[in-house]
Amino acid sequence: ASRPHAELVARDLTVRFGGLTALASASLRVKPGEIHALIGPNGAGKSTFVNTISGFYRPTSGACELDGVQLTGLSSHEIARVGLARTFQNTELFGEMTVLENVMVGYQQRLGYGIAAAVLHTPAMRREETRCRRTAAGLLAFVGLEAYANEQARFLPFGLQRRLEIARALAAGPRLLLLDEPAAGLTTQEIDALEAMIRKIAGLGVSVLLIEHHVELIMAVADTVTVLDYGQVIASDTPSVVQADPRVVEAYFGT
Ligand code: ADP
Ligand code: MG
Repeated sequence: ASRPHAELVARDLTVRFGGLTALASASLRVKPGEIHALIGPNGAGKSTFVNTISGFYRPTSGACELDGVQLTGLSSHEIARVGLARTFQNTELFGEMTVLENVMVGYQQRLGYGIAAAVLHTPAMRREETRCRRTAAGLLAFVGLEAYANEQARFLPFGLQRRLEIARALAAGPRLLLLDEPAAGLTTQEIDALEAMIRKIAGLGVSVLLIEHHVELIMAVADTVTVLDYGQVIASDTPSVVQADPRVVEAYFGT
């Protein structure tokens, strides 16, 4: 696939919750096609950052854009349509739906109508549903879940639910994918598979912003690492430079 990779630029994002400053003028650039990791201690503001660029929080000040399109002020649905999809730190699947249906929901979000419209069954809708089903099945194969297509999502083991969340996010057709702690709770083997999957996603032409605690995964997979501490960016460079940065060692890698 030769589609252009997306660039995400966040400039001076500040987010306050009452008296608490969760993000203090944080800037970050995800270069087109790169795998960019965002790390930092608990409470550093990583999830706030993700929630802000994906439109779940409004920044107190600052702005972000995807390929020059202003995201600040748009709803999370509008942002998804611009080309930014995300997963959540705590998986948010539809447990009663099948694995395949969960991915179809992601695809329908791209088309801009809900699952309710899909059951109206006009001929055009039926054709669309066939296409949706086929796309969803392809994405399930991409993440290695094709054997589980018709199982209820809530019966999937935890590690597979995380993969399903990634498939659903990809179904929205993003040019940039945000992953909030995708390795949390996974086994070593599952983390190896996740690493391969992240590379494959980047290979599809999707830029990746990865929020993660798992240092080995970050060092293995990231092109650039940005470090947040108390809401501020204290470093942004290649993994080896960041890992050797005394400030980062003190704030994050230190004991
Ligand atoms: P991280 O993901 O790096 O662990 P968070 O972004 O979740 O950090 O949190 C950063 C700070 O902002 C924390 O002090 C947290 O308690 C606070 N915070 C996050 N979300 C909210 C919210 N919705 N309301 C109030 N405070 C919040
Ligand atoms: Mg978090």
